[in-house]
Amino acid sequence: MLRWTNYHQHCHYCDGTDAPETYIKAALAQNVGSFGFSSHATVPFSVPWCIKPHLFDAYIEHIKRLKSEYADQLPIYVGMEIDYIPSLINPRQAQFDNLDYRIGSVHYLQPNPELPLFEVDGTSKSFREGLETLFANDIRRACELYYSSTRDMLRQCPPDILGHIDKIKMRNTDNRYFSDTDIWYRQAVMDTLDVAAETGVVIEVNTRSMYKKKNIQPYPSYWVLEGIRQRRIPIMLNSDAHQPREITAEFAQTAEQLYQLGFRELHIITPQGIAPRPFTAEGIEI
Ligand SMILES: [Zn+2]
Ligand SMILES: [Zn+2]
Repeated sequence: MLRWTNYHQHCHYCDGTDAPETYIKAALAQNVGSFGFSSHATVPFSVPWCIKPHLFDAYIEHIKRLKSEYADQLPIYVGMEIDYIPSLINPRQAQFDNLDYRIGSVHYLQPNPELPLFEVDGTSKSFREGLETLFANDIRRACELYYSSTRDMLRQCPPDILGHIDKIKMRNTDNRYFSDTDIWYRQAVMDTLDVAAETGVVIEVNTRSMYKKKNIQPYPSYWVLEGIRQRRIPIMLNSDAHQPREITAEFAQTAEQLYQLGFRELHIITPQGIAPRPFTAEGIEI
């Protein structure tokens, strides 16, 4: 039977809108057959979108309880989306050992340990100001640091799943800062794919850019997916839902496009681990 899977979800333990139960009911209504929660892991500084430190264990216990409650209806997995910030947080720290899976994402850059962190997916104003004050308006240096940070994470503390690999493009609507055909940009991305291919990480195809109307293509862009296919890097379809109605947003269209790009398998989480499954535009054979 063809169904969808999605392992990138933010519920009200972090910056999502609803209780986990509401997401599970919505997932069942949207023909989802395997499901995971990935709240933003607590970072060692105060931000509104991460799990509060005192709720860290409660989140894990809550999802584990739902996992057994819904065992006969929907396989549910406990994950987190974990930041990589050198010397502060990474997906291989011991507190994440008992999760079913770890999504590793770069949301912050550390241009220099003496300087403040640069937030990649904050507001366009904070991006512009940070670019000016921390990178002297050198977008190439910011992008190259974004991708080299991703490579450092993959080499030193690899997650199971790499989150939104080219998220930094979200601030580049209408090529505001650079062209993604620039050789330096393509090189930074391809160097990162080379490292991903060595580590065995699964790269997610994340539709949030599409339904949030940041871009008509997912993270990663189709030209990046071409490089992923050539290197035979495993992929997975996720939506990075922050609301129950976003769980399978843009999935059919994206699966169709992936098929046209030559992909024949999407990876899913099973009780035995991450595994490939055939798919069509109607869903995944799970
Ligand atoms: Zn993220
Ligand atoms: Zn996310």
